[in-house]
Amino acid sequence: MTAVPVPRCERLVEYLDHWTAIHPHLLLDELHECRRTYGQVARDVRACAASLLELGVRPGQSVAMLTTPRPEFLTVFLALSRIGAIWVGLNPSYQQAELMHVVTDSEPTLVISLAAHGPREFGEDIAALAAASPAIRHVVAIDGSLPDAIPFAELLAEPSDVAAAELDRIASGIDPNDTALVIYTSGTTGSPKGAMISHRAFAVGCWLQAQRHYHDHPRTLANLPVDHVGGLMDQVGETLTMGGSIHFTERFNPQETLELLQTRRITRWGQIPTMFQMVVSLPEFDRADLASLQQVGWGGAPMTRTLVGRLRATGAQLGTVYGLTESCVAVAYNDDDADDATLAETVGRPDPRLELCIADDDGREVEAGMPGEIQVRNPCLMSGYLHLPAETREAFTADGFLRTGDIGVLRPDGNLTLVGRINEMFKSGGYNMYPREIEIVLESHPLVGIAAVIPVSDPVYHEVGHAFVTARDRTPPTSADLQRWCRERLANYKVPKRIFVRDELPVLPVGKVDKRALAPATPAP
Ligand code: AMP
Repeated sequence: MTAVPVPRCERLVEYLDHWTAIHPHLLLDELHECRRTYGQVARDVRACAASLLELGVRPGQSVAMLTTPRPEFLTVFLALSRIGAIWVGLNPSYQQAELMHVVTDSEPTLVISLAAHGPREFGEDIAALAAASPAIRHVVAIDGSLPDAIPFAELLAEPSDVAAAELDRIASGIDPNDTALVIYTSGTTGSPKGAMISHRAFAVGCWLQAQRHYHDHPRTLANLPVDHVGGLMDQVGETLTMGGSIHFTERFNPQETLELLQTRRITRWGQIPTMFQMVVSLPEFDRADLASLQQVGWGGAPMTRTLVGRLRATGAQLGTVYGLTESCVAVAYNDDDADDATLAETVGRPDPRLELCIADDDGREVEAGMPGEIQVRNPCLMSGYLHLPAETREAFTADGFLRTGDIGVLRPDGNLTLVGRINEMFKSGGYNMYPREIEIVLESHPLVGIAAVIPVSDPVYHEVGHAFVTARDRTPPTSADLQRWCRERLANYKVPKRIFVRDELPVLPVGKVDKRALAPATPAP
């Protein structure tokens, strides 16, 4: 690894300051006709930070933002870093109950929201959140109008001398060990848990990753959601750390992605494998001019060898990263010269700058080549789950290693293969799927007795959820009714692709549903 011209910073906003001093006129972000240089973003971030203070946001308080990846998001994300407040991203595909869980748990002082995204309008959702969460003092509307909301443009007004002085006073006293982000993830109980990441963990994580991926003035496509570590760190944070340009797209669309790669001369293209699959399947992919691409990288879910081969044809450096929300930073990267089979079968080598151990059920390191839980220790781990001390204790070993829940095997060549997950979580199109969360929704239907959701392999999404339910009494529900029920209560990617209504489900001796027995009974999709 060669030394790269990036200082190690303690907060993400320091990278904005660093690069603004060096190249104030370089493009930092872009969406359609909105293009901002480093200097312009620095000005907007300063104005926004002063406004947030004036609206009563204090260091250590959280601000929730319901948005797609777009310039206003970057402004707020960095303004919160400036004033030591906490970012909570809300995914526009969340249904009201999901938004409610995150907001009532994270207790934001301020909610900043799109008025609409496509056909979905958020007015009622935001009103319900404001009514349910007394901590919310103000609502800000990014576009259009929301009831009783402050227009986002007002946050960008030049601060008064008094407000600017207050900003400087507060910004100089932030402790980098304080929480910078809460990212909702995981949850065997069905409720996503808020992983707390400190300012230092996030900034150092970006720096560690940037050292692996550095090239001059990278141009990155940013299309992952603002509530996921992949969008926040790999696409946005890492690019800013390298002093590059971020090209936002608000919703993933394969054609638009291919077009932007070419017209914006993108140099770093990082996605979840499912998204790559959709782009390479376009008939025009083979004719596309992708000569600008220097790096093509993936993470979050396994990759097929065929897809690696298609991406190899771009001529870019291929790479995978393995990490999880709770580890914050990537813990394994492949070698630059890894062949296609190694890229498809492994997640690369554990980063020697971090500690990794593969442990058996008793927490002892397994023999070389044996499977065990991947446990990691590094300076960037989450500080814990918000409001969940017991789950936080469970997430770490006594000596501070994070239990990833992933089962891995370290091959003799030093590459790490993921073989399964300890808990039941599975990935569909890069999204984490937590069966219990979906089962709870199904079981809340008046005609449903018990529900069991299992992963079934799928050529496009890697895995999708199939559900099995029993009737609560003599009137069985219909599969179509249950699909509708789920669509009204869950983000689209969580809705089971198929729902089977059964007289009974197989059970283990202790009375729990025997999900393994269900799997072979699943008809091919
Ligand atoms: P998340 O917390 O959403 O980032 O999901 C983390 C989980 O995604 C990990 O615990 C792994 O199970 C899986 N994962 C992450 N990176 C990879 C990768 N490169 N290949 C396969 N699975 C991955």
